[in-house]
Amino acid sequence: MNDTLLVTGGAGFIGSAVVRHLIQETEATVVTVDALTYAGHQENLAPVANHPRHHFEQEDITDAPAMHRLFREHEPSGVLHLAAESHVDRSIGGPAAFVQTNVVGTQVLLEAARTYWEDQGRPGGFRFLHVSTDEVYGELGETGAFTEETPYDPSSPYSASKAGADHLARAWHRTYDLPVLITNCSNNYGPHQHPEKLIPVVILNALEGEPIPVYGDGKNVRDWLYVKDHVRALLEVLQEGEVGDTYNVGGNCERENIAVVRQICDLLDETRPPGSTLETKSHETKSHETKSHHDLITFVEDRPGHDWRYAIDASKIEGELGWAPEVSFEEGLRRTVDWYVGHREWVQAVQG
Ligand code: NAD
Repeated sequence: MNDTLLVTGGAGFIGSAVVRHLIQETEATVVTVDALTYAGHQENLAPVANHPRHHFEQEDITDAPAMHRLFREHEPSGVLHLAAESHVDRSIGGPAAFVQTNVVGTQVLLEAARTYWEDQGRPGGFRFLHVSTDEVYGELGETGAFTEETPYDPSSPYSASKAGADHLARAWHRTYDLPVLITNCSNNYGPHQHPEKLIPVVILNALEGEPIPVYGDGKNVRDWLYVKDHVRALLEVLQEGEVGDTYNVGGNCERENIAVVRQICDLLDETRPPGSTLETKSHETKSHETKSHHDLITFVEDRPGHDWRYAIDASKIEGELGWAPEVSFEEGLRRTVDWYVGHREWVQAVQG
């Protein structure tokens, strides 16, 4: 791959994994576009920041003149659109920012891409990959899995705003022929995920000896995918996917939230047994007072509109594009725990 790719949200969790992969593993030139909200951090791009094929543009995707300028100046052959407000809890307390970035921002970006693509004479190779979530499909009961045909039924302001963005992306293909592709992926985990999300919260609270909050009875089920496997799926769809199509991406790895929390506690009990010292946020050391990290688990009041279960049928991307997850949950979780244990300064930096 030796194209110029424009990656929105490239300073966030998944976006930065995409950018690091493109610079380190391919010949692509990358234009990272990111407003650097509380969720975006230059630290995530440190290994590639000064690479000659990497360009960083601090811009807001809702800024239409800025988006038009980026297309004109960089002339990308593809877009990976990941910029979004992404945290469900925040969307409950402040939905406006989610509509602004996820819906309005996506429309602005689609329109800037369309103008550029038409000005260029509608080149056949141009592609716009809109990155979305399985949460647009709503919740499942005990059985079944989301397919690409499952009707949209979002529950939270976050998933509703992503659903709106998906509809816009699809409309820009059907109405204007813009070469759009869409992916809907399950829960990602791995290094560089913002400390507000479930797996980092559990790891970091456990390391600090603080209560580990678990919503409701912890029985909600999510499908988990290691972030590098998601990156491989996105690049596969960008290059080989059928224009206008949607691809569901999942890890074939359903877990109750409480099982994920307990697995992290097991890993930490193994590497940091009771009685060992632990480092606090202020870099002091104190002795481990809990018998086991499991003792820190604390059930808290459930989140309103908390979807019961998600599961992904990824047979389309597996069958048509030959993609499959490579990193098992056990291996991915071990790598993730090790990364957070070894990167306390990153945690401090992103927590401000
Ligand atoms: P993230 O919150 O870690 O990163 C989002 C990035 O977008 C940040 O760098 C932020 O600064 C940037 N951003 C936010 N608003 C912006 C704006 N108006 N203009 C420009 N940049 C802006 O999110 P993530 O977990 O990396 O998710 C990336 C994408 O993948 C999102 O679209 C999300 O909906 C989707 N997704 C995430 C998951 C998951 O489990 N994390 C699963 C499926 C799909």
